[in-house]
Amino acid sequence: MTSDMTEHALGGDPLRSGFENPGDYGFETRAIRAGQPHDPRTGAVITPINLSTTFAQDAVGEPKYGYEYARTGNPTRHAYQECLASLEGATHGFAFASGLAAEDALLRLVQPGERILLGDDAYGGTFRLISRVHGEIGVDHEAVDLTDSDAIRAAWTPETRMIWLETPTNPLLTVFDIELMADVAHKLGGIVVVDNTFATPYLQQPLSLGADAVVHSATKYLGGHSDVVGGFIATSDDRIAEHLGFVQNAVGAVPGPFDCYLVLRGLKTLAVRMDRHCTNAAAVVSCLLDHPRVSTVLYPGLDGHPGHEVAARQMSNYGGMVSFRLVGGREAAEKLATSTEIFTLAESLGAVESLIEHPGVMTHASAAGSALEVPDDLIRISVGIESIDDLVNDLERALATT
Ligand SMILES: *Cc1c(COP(=O)(O)O)cnc(C)c1O
Repeated sequence: MTSDMTEHALGGDPLRSGFENPGDYGFETRAIRAGQPHDPRTGAVITPINLSTTFAQDAVGEPKYGYEYARTGNPTRHAYQECLASLEGATHGFAFASGLAAEDALLRLVQPGERILLGDDAYGGTFRLISRVHGEIGVDHEAVDLTDSDAIRAAWTPETRMIWLETPTNPLLTVFDIELMADVAHKLGGIVVVDNTFATPYLQQPLSLGADAVVHSATKYLGGHSDVVGGFIATSDDRIAEHLGFVQNAVGAVPGPFDCYLVLRGLKTLAVRMDRHCTNAAAVVSCLLDHPRVSTVLYPGLDGHPGHEVAARQMSNYGGMVSFRLVGGREAAEKLATSTEIFTLAESLGAVESLIEHPGVMTHASAAGSALEVPDDLIRISVGIESIDDLVNDLERALATT
């Protein structure tokens, strides 16, 4: 059943596929149509939220349309998986109940006694999952500077199976060279996984740069409206896909049909939202660069950013996430985070509304004391799609209080 579902990830069955050849269409068209056929019985244009947990069979063990039980496969999830796989240029897509559940499924490729190399900056929850959950059952890991291929070769041992990289990183916006990492890992006999949450497939397509799998927190830009928690993995590697299909079904950390619908709906506007996130972020960055209370601005679009050249090569724009450090240290950072009005003080990112947070105390508290600890004068903002003047005025007014 699972292999049947994955074989049909972009399949030709007109009842289940929105397109015969999704690859023939542009990104925005696929975001709206791939995997989403008009309902053959009613003509409904929108993929229904299909709540059925079980599906009628024609004969014993012969489901009518390939669905038998909803943990294994559900039509709403199927549409979402086809659509997002298509956007990542992948032949297989797997939806999970959260970004971390998706990451866990991928990390299960690495056995106890084997080893993972990860960047020295990453989402705090990823670090916690690798070090505390997989670490506790005997999977070894080391945080390395992934901008330095010699450091990776030096850290590589015969037990190393995977390079886990996030780019741009959360929260320091460090950029890693996906093509270079894939080349190094493949020569050493390992695989590369890219967390593409910050860039989204609209700005960066890691599989086309040689990555073996792409993982997402769909909770962020893909859903885009702060109303759904979800995770996703895209891959064109049949061996990895077989593993993921098995884990998705055998562990069962699957999203419900309504969650699948929400992300599928979010994907339709991903391109236009990302365009606005990028232009708003660029305007916010210019305001911060000129500000006397700001000591450093971290944004891959800046000429002076150490990863700018790589970002310009592998991304089509620089995204909506901006981090910066304040002249007045931790106290000023905390003051700023509580003084904005349009930027809401909250965790998470990637939705239409602007958010501000203090990573050291909030999202990245679990990295304290580790190689991934972040500076305490750091502020991270997720620039939303509100009126840009309101965003700049809000930040300027709040910075004046620090
Ligand atoms: C939020 C986030 C995750 C975790 O995803 P959840 O949906 O919260 O489980 C992983 N990676 C990055 C970069 C994130 O921002």
